[in-house]
Amino acid sequence: MRGLPALLALVVPALVAACGRPPPARLPAGPPVDLRQPADRASPFELVRLRDDPQRCRALLEAAGARIEAVEPVTQGACGHRDALRFAGGRLGSARLAGTVDLPLACPVAAALLLWERDVLQPAARRHLGSPITRIDHFGSYACRGIESSARLSEHARANAIDIAGFHTADGRRITLVEGWSGDRATRAFLRAARDGACRLFATTLSPDADAAHRDHFHLDQADRGAHVRAICR
Ligand SMILES: [Zn+2]
Repeated sequence: MRGLPALLALVVPALVAACGRPPPARLPAGPPVDLRQPADRASPFELVRLRDDPQRCRALLEAAGARIEAVEPVTQGACGHRDALRFAGGRLGSARLAGTVDLPLACPVAAALLLWERDVLQPAARRHLGSPITRIDHFGSYACRGIESSARLSEHARANAIDIAGFHTADGRRITLVEGWSGDRATRAFLRAARDGACRLFATTLSPDADAAHRDHFHLDQADRGAHVRAICR
């Protein structure tokens, strides 16, 4: 009988593969998340899981150089957040998050933002725009609302999402999603690199390609859909 489990171990995956089921996109295995390491070492699944251990998540952010502040918990009907944080002064790496509303962030969103700014946005800006990003404009994170045309609550209802509206470069350019997405070649290339890089760090990335509701912003969230569900990238 000793050979049977070994045989099954060989045969079962082959049968599953033969059924045409797509392989799981994200596997829970791998080295533990370290936000000091390059972004391509982390996956959305690993970053989403940081939600289970807020203390560790905050320690990882601080170890990577982020200055963060705790945010008072909020309960608002079915909406609300606890364990949210904000970047002190809106400072995110060498850029600043700027908007007209407060920005409480669930820690997995903050962790992905840190990696996105450092390892996606800045390299893409230097490459395509020839100037680093100094400011990131946002439309907010927490909002007690549902998903359009759905009964479900938005990830915004738990501060588990952020809407990014545009960018400012060190040499004085202002790039908006609403104009830049179909703007000049360099701006288009930068914004697509920003979107594609977000797709490797966030569980959900919606760009102006997704639908009319996102024509003026990137929606980035860390929805928990389990280990074997592909990140949504549109
Ligand atoms: Zn959104």
